[in-house]
Amino acid sequence: MPLRHGRELLMIPGPTTIPDAVLQAMHRPAVEIYTGELVALTDRCLVDIKRLFGTAGNAYIYAANGHGAWEAALSNTLSGGDKVLVLESGRFATGWGETALSMGLEVEVLPQAFSRAVDPAAVRARLAADDAEEIAAILVVQIDTASGVMNDIPAIRAAIDAAGHPALLMVDTVASLGIVPFEMDAWGVDVAMCGAQKGLMTPPGLGLVAAGPKAIAAHADADLVTRYWDWTFRDGPEHYMKYCGTPPEHLLFAFRKALDILLTEEGLEAAHRRHALLAEATRRAVAVWAEAGALSFNIEAPSARANSVTVVRTTDPAVARRLVDTCRDRYGVVLSNAIGQLEGGGFRIGHMGHVNAAALLGTLAVIETALASLGVPHGAGGTAAAIAWLADATRD
Ligand SMILES: *Cc1c(COP(=O)(O)O)cnc(C)c1O
Repeated sequence: MPLRHGRELLMIPGPTTIPDAVLQAMHRPAVEIYTGELVALTDRCLVDIKRLFGTAGNAYIYAANGHGAWEAALSNTLSGGDKVLVLESGRFATGWGETALSMGLEVEVLPQAFSRAVDPAAVRARLAADDAEEIAAILVVQIDTASGVMNDIPAIRAAIDAAGHPALLMVDTVASLGIVPFEMDAWGVDVAMCGAQKGLMTPPGLGLVAAGPKAIAAHADADLVTRYWDWTFRDGPEHYMKYCGTPPEHLLFAFRKALDILLTEEGLEAAHRRHALLAEATRRAVAVWAEAGALSFNIEAPSARANSVTVVRTTDPAVARRLVDTCRDRYGVVLSNAIGQLEGGGFRIGHMGHVNAAALLGTLAVIETALASLGVPHGAGGTAAAIAWLADATRD
């Protein structure tokens, strides 16, 4: 008996739910691209992007997804044959490394188990052994949506400094910007990139990149630069140069509205707090369900579990698939299957972006209903534990 009719909840780690006001902001005619309101809109978006990244450096908006922003970061700062060190912690830093390889860069992966965060001590040791300073850039993800890990970027920066290594530090914030604090300048990050379709609640298609002084200096000698991604061209005097052609106008209208919601209506710190509370409520529920042994957290260390997604392992692969199918088809909640090394062995609960207590508690209750309905062994009262914890944490 399906109970899915009604508004479906999209609880996946991206793309995320788009607020109605953001969708409505796109429903308008196109405008002229050389003068007028679009020029001012670009300027205001760039100011807010710098604020989100926490940088006084340069910011760029691409008509691209996160993969495009990865390529922008690499092509603007590196030359063919340069070596990059990829700090593995799930699926996405290695994906960025695959992009680097395809561009003619040399790629070395510092391996890490799928259940763990990057180990800063291992980063320090690897860099200390690079006497010839062959490593030109270090690629790391702040939150990896495949493993559900959050890496400690300041600790990784400290490890690089302790080794006295000059490599550029590049950070993927696709699943963390707007969700957890990120301070590009204060943390010594040289290049940061993001896509707007996760914490930033915008339809997929905008890639954001910020460059600090060391990256801008490296740009002067980079030979991988091509016209579309080129920072220098995009810094040119004409508005169309900022997009290397026609701006993705409707995505910009949407993005502007999403920025207003995030930065003005809610406030960035409140959004961080909301994500922390909803993520902890999710973990409280999963911890109870896991007591029966059929489910477990993918990330071993509680302090390394991300606030944007919770990745759950299932001992029986069939359970993950049936659970995801049942939540969607019978109860109207869309979860995500596990990917990367955990493919077929778990599921992912997205809790980032335009998500509130109603959506999250509804999701947890639906998962618990599906666990019971499918006869999957689980500790009783996971959703109740989440409710009790949230009631306590939000009391005035
Ligand atoms: C989703 C995601 C990406 C990929 O973004 P696309 O827009 O699909 O290219 C990159 N990095 C992380 C951490 C992600 O979660």
